[in-house]
Amino acid sequence: MEAIILLGGPGAGKGTLAEGLKKQTPYMHVSTGNILRDAVKSGSKLGQTVEPFLKNGQLVADELILEIIKERMGQEPAGAKFMFDGFPRTIHQAEGLQTLLPDVNGSVSHVLNLAATPQDLIPRLCGRRTCKTCGAIFHMVNMPPKEEGICDLDGGELFQRADDNEETVMSRLEVYELQTAPLIDFYEKLGLIRTINAGGSADYVLDQALAALRG
Ligand code: AMP
Repeated sequence: MEAIILLGGPGAGKGTLAEGLKKQTPYMHVSTGNILRDAVKSGSKLGQTVEPFLKNGQLVADELILEIIKERMGQEPAGAKFMFDGFPRTIHQAEGLQTLLPDVNGSVSHVLNLAATPQDLIPRLCGRRTCKTCGAIFHMVNMPPKEEGICDLDGGELFQRADDNEETVMSRLEVYELQTAPLIDFYEKLGLIRTINAGGSADYVLDQALAALRG
């Protein structure tokens, strides 16, 4: 098993990059945020447990997340290649992943760090719209769909994530700085960090990411 990690604050463009990489690389996209949102939508026990955390922009318990990742990795054959988006989010999760890897004969090959300032991120998050059916990501100003409220790819309805409002965005940024940003150092020490300026266009970020993965 091989994994790459997309690291970066909320709105840095991890989801958009994942969509681009999915088309050009063999990596399977695993977004813990999407898994948790699906659980909330389904009304499952997991969904009920995590809903308040998502609503407030707080992190779900590390052990729960590691359980989800372990289960997800177990569903794929030995040679699978994963692209983790939004995981790990804490040092404890990153250490947990390092412990899980030998069991699946796996390793992390690259950590793509999408670097952006809060000034970049706030307007991106507040203007973000997502397709209900295919998950494609648009932006009201930077990447508007051809027809308002409608996905260019499959005609699905576009919606605004419940946690993309200004109040929750501020607490998500704070949570990122306190709990997730220390991972840059963690993976730097392992020699895995490749930093990309996330202030660039989606095409620029994708090109930089592909170049980093070749290196
Ligand atoms: P995302 O879609 O990655 O922005 O995640 C949305 C929300 O899901 C976050 O604000 C957290 O509440 C929760 N979440 C997603 N991934 C994780 C994780 N690895 N650890 C803890 N909470 C997470």
